[in-house]
Amino acid sequence: MSFVISDKQKTFLKEVDDICRSIRQYEEKCYLEEKLNDKIIPEFGKIGMLGCPISRRYGGLGYDILTYILAIERIGEEGNSLRTFFSAHTSIGQMVLQGWADEVQKGEYLPKTCDGRSIMAFALTEPMAGSDPSSMVMKFEDRGDHFLLNGKKHWIGNGSCAKVMTTYAKEAGGSHHGKISAFIVDGDSDGISTEEMRNKLGLLTIKNAEIYFDNCVVPKKNLLGLKGQGLNIAYSALIDGRLSVAAGAVGVMTDCLEESVSYSKAREQHGSPLAKKQLIQEHLARIAVNIESSRWLVYRAALARQNLHDYVEQLKTEDHQWQSKLNRNNKDYYLLRSDADNLSTIAKFHASNSAFDSANRSVQIFGSYAYRKSNRVARHFLDSRAITIYEGTNEVLQLKMASKILGDNYKAY
Ligand SMILES: Cc1cc2nc3c(=O)[nH]c(=O)nc-3n(C[C@H](O)[C@H](O)[C@H](O)COP(=O)(O)OP(=O)(O)OC[C@H]3O[C@@H](n4cnc5c(N)ncnc54)[C@H](O)[C@@H]3O)c2cc1C
Repeated sequence: MSFVISDKQKTFLKEVDDICRSIRQYEEKCYLEEKLNDKIIPEFGKIGMLGCPISRRYGGLGYDILTYILAIERIGEEGNSLRTFFSAHTSIGQMVLQGWADEVQKGEYLPKTCDGRSIMAFALTEPMAGSDPSSMVMKFEDRGDHFLLNGKKHWIGNGSCAKVMTTYAKEAGGSHHGKISAFIVDGDSDGISTEEMRNKLGLLTIKNAEIYFDNCVVPKKNLLGLKGQGLNIAYSALIDGRLSVAAGAVGVMTDCLEESVSYSKAREQHGSPLAKKQLIQEHLARIAVNIESSRWLVYRAALARQNLHDYVEQLKTEDHQWQSKLNRNNKDYYLLRSDADNLSTIAKFHASNSAFDSANRSVQIFGSYAYRKSNRVARHFLDSRAITIYEGTNEVLQLKMASKILGDNYKAY
């Protein structure tokens, strides 16, 4: 297993680092004002980060998964809020199209998402269908020359600014009655309206929205994958979502450690720096263990995801009916997917719990100085609460891990 990266990749990661530093103060200002950071698109757009792992053929940089994940790790140092923008736009946005869309769909949608004309979202969750998306009630009807969507999604990251999203609905009547299909939907389609979700606990520079589909007309050409394949597509997107959350969590912990080290050296109580107190050192050591143990899980999962990606891209060149081969009946695909799924699940579970623990320890080291949102570790603490909930709650992820060990007959969810 090799994690070697080239000089070109290092140069790109240095550019990501430079942009992160340059927008640091502005991100903090936006956070305190609870507004979307409007510098993300122009600044990260300049270096191509808006299409980092997307093929050059469609306007992206064409980087491998590990390079993208390293960039996400660095962005995570600026906070889960900033990182969530990229997870929604790229990991569960563009990468779903890259994996499942046909050539015409990719040609139409990906270039404008890579250059920032269009931001993406992933609209799966509903008020009555969170951990169990199969219980969704959003419906679609096949009206011959178009689809008609009716229902509501909520908590959708980038939901109020996305110009294109994938969404998921159950067929009412028709050939696949009750089965879920996936759609590419333009944000300005007739019948769509959004409402920002306010008073959030954290993640204050990323906007989440409720999205209403009221007789929303979706052209026939915008069916994503095959009819009835929607849940398969949504679950595959969550592999990338989890990986990005886990990578971002490593960044969060790295920043927590850096902030905590410099503060504990500078702050004196009882006649010496906090850094000399053994109980403070315990916190620092535990954060360091959290970082190292999470980082290697993330990198390993990224390589497993790369193997899956390479297989699917190869299949596309060999078989024009490739979409019908991306299921568990295809053993090669199933094994690669289940490996990537399991490793990204383990990485997300461990890294998100570790990030919340690390941010909590950092707040303790800072004492009252971290009890304001203007403090970096305070923001990491608030924002890390969400990462144990989204992209699969950590309870459900444990059940997933257990069923991988025990077999499907023991599936407890
Ligand atoms: C900040 C934020 C951003 C989000 N962004 C998006 C987005 O961009 N797109 C999107 O589609 N969704 C998004 N979500 C939704 C997110 O994916 C869901 O919140 C998540 O899947 C959990 O669903 P739920 O909130 O309905 O909780 P529920 O499913 O109701 O779960 C509640 C509790 O019950 C537990 N639980 C549920 N089932 C079981 C079980 N079988 N066994 C044991 N315990 C169980 C859960 O672990 C949890 O602790 C976001 C959510 C948040 C908070």
